[in-house]
Amino acid sequence: MRADAATLLEYGTDALKRGHPADLVVIPGSAAEISAIARLCHDMRVPLVVRGAGTGYSGGAVPTEGGIVLSVERLNRILEIDQGNLLAVVQPAVITGVLQAAVEAQGLFYPPDPQSLKESSIGGNVAECAGGPRAFKYGVTKRYVLGLEAVLPTGEIIRTGGRTVKNVVGYDLTQLLVGSEGTLAIITEITLRLVPKPPAVATLRACFADVRAAARAVGALVGRRVVPSTIELMDRDSLDTVAAYVGERLAPAGTGALLLIEVDGVPAAVEAEADAVAAACRDVGALEVLRARSEQEREALWRVRRETSYALRTIAPLKLNNDVVVPHGRVPELIDLVERLRAEYHLRIPSFGHAGDGNIHVNVMVDPADAEAMARATKAVGALMEGVVALQGSISGEHGIGFAKKAYIGLELSEDVIALMKRVKAAFDPHGILNPGKIFP
Ligand SMILES: Cc1cc2nc3c(=O)[nH]c(=O)nc-3n(C[C@H](O)[C@H](O)[C@H](O)COP(=O)(O)OP(=O)(O)OC[C@H]3O[C@@H](n4cnc5c(N)ncnc54)[C@H](O)[C@@H]3O)c2cc1C
Repeated sequence: MRADAATLLEYGTDALKRGHPADLVVIPGSAAEISAIARLCHDMRVPLVVRGAGTGYSGGAVPTEGGIVLSVERLNRILEIDQGNLLAVVQPAVITGVLQAAVEAQGLFYPPDPQSLKESSIGGNVAECAGGPRAFKYGVTKRYVLGLEAVLPTGEIIRTGGRTVKNVVGYDLTQLLVGSEGTLAIITEITLRLVPKPPAVATLRACFADVRAAARAVGALVGRRVVPSTIELMDRDSLDTVAAYVGERLAPAGTGALLLIEVDGVPAAVEAEADAVAAACRDVGALEVLRARSEQEREALWRVRRETSYALRTIAPLKLNNDVVVPHGRVPELIDLVERLRAEYHLRIPSFGHAGDGNIHVNVMVDPADAEAMARATKAVGALMEGVVALQGSISGEHGIGFAKKAYIGLELSEDVIALMKRVKAAFDPHGILNPGKIFP
C-alpha cells in the first residue's frame, strides 16, 4: 500500500497524460487479496480502478474522482507454456513482449502486437482488446483468449472459458470481459491460445507519391488475394515529422507516403506472396519497392515507423490520438476526410497506422495552453468521429473509450444498446465502484 504524493501522481496518469491522482495505491499479490480489497470497496462504496502497465491511451487506468488504484504489477508470472495443447497460462502483469519471446523460444507464436508491447501488460491488452499491425492476418487479442480467472467487484473469484478452442456452454463471459476496460471485473489469470511460429518472413517497403496511391495499394493486395501479416501506412506529415526529428529522410526523394508490408508463412509461400505484393504495389504506381534481404535491412526499413511516436512529441505538446477504424476498402475516403479537417481547422494531423485492417491513427497535434487551438482541435476530433461512423467505421479500433472518448459513443451505439450495456455493468457491479466514469457519457 502506498500513499506518498509521487506515487499517487504516477498512478493517476497513463499515456493520455490526463486524469486525477489516486487517494491510495494498493499492490496486492494474489486473487484472494484482490477479492478482499474489492469486497471492502464494494461495502464502503469506494471507487476502485485497476491498473496494468499504464500505457493506455484513453485514461482507462486512471481515476476520474480519486479512490483506490489497484495495480496488478506483482502478478507477473508466466505460469505455463503448454506446447502440446498450444496454449499459455499467464498472470495479468506479464509484459506482452516478454510472453512473445518466451513462446517464440519454443517455436510458438502469440500474434497480437500492440506497438507498446515492450511495456504493456497482457492483462491490459485483454482489458482493452489490444490490436496491432498483425491484426489484418491474425486478428486482435480476443481471438487468443480461451479462459480467464477474474475477481468481481463484489469479491467473488470466477473462472470463465477454459483450455479448449471450442466451448459453447452458457453465455460467453470470457469474451464479455475482453475489452471491458476494467469496468466489469479484475482479471487475475489468462489462458491464451498460441499458434506455431511462422518459419519465414519477408519485409517490403513500397513508396508512393501520395497517400491515396498508398491506400489504393491495399485494395490491390486484397484483389490479388494476398493477406500480409502487416501493412503499415505512413502519410506525408508523419514522414516529414520523422525526417525533421532524425535529421534525414528515411525514404527516397518524392515519397509522399509509404507502406511497410510483411508476409509470413512457409518459405515457398512467402516468396510467392512477396512477389505478389511487389507487383500489386507497382500496379498502382509505386515509386519504389524494396525488399529487406537481412535482419539488418529489415530493421532499417522499420526505423521510420519506430521513430514516429517519438518524432510526434517534438511538434506539439499534446497528441489527440484517434485510433479510428473503417472497412479497409474505405481507407481512401478516411484519408480525404483527414485532408478536409487539416484544411478546415488549420491543424497538423500526421496519420499513420494499420492500413490492412483500416485502423488509422489520426493524430491531432495541439498546444493545450492555446485555448483557441484547443477549441479547433476539439471540433476537428468531433468531425472525425462523425465522419468515421458515416464511413461504417468505429470511433475506436484499439485504445478503448475510457473517459477520453465517452462523449462520442452515442454516435456509434444506439440508446437501447447503451442502456443494455449499463444493465450488464450493474449486474457485475451493483454499486458502480469499479472504474467509475468510464465508457458511458
Ligand atoms: C507508444 C504506444 C503505442 C501503443 N500502441 C498500441 C497498439 O498498437 N495497439 C493497441 O491496441 N494499443 C496500443 N497502445 C495503447 C496501450 O498500450 C494498450 O491499450 C494496452 O493494451 C494497455 O495495456 P496496459 O497494461 O498498459 O494497461 P493499462 O493502461 O494499465 O490499463 C488499460 C485498461 O485496462 C484495464 N486493466 C488493466 N489491467 C487489468 C486487469 N488485470 N483486469 C481488468 N482490467 C485491467 C484498466 O483498468 C484500463 O481500463 C499504445 C500505447 C503507447 C503508449
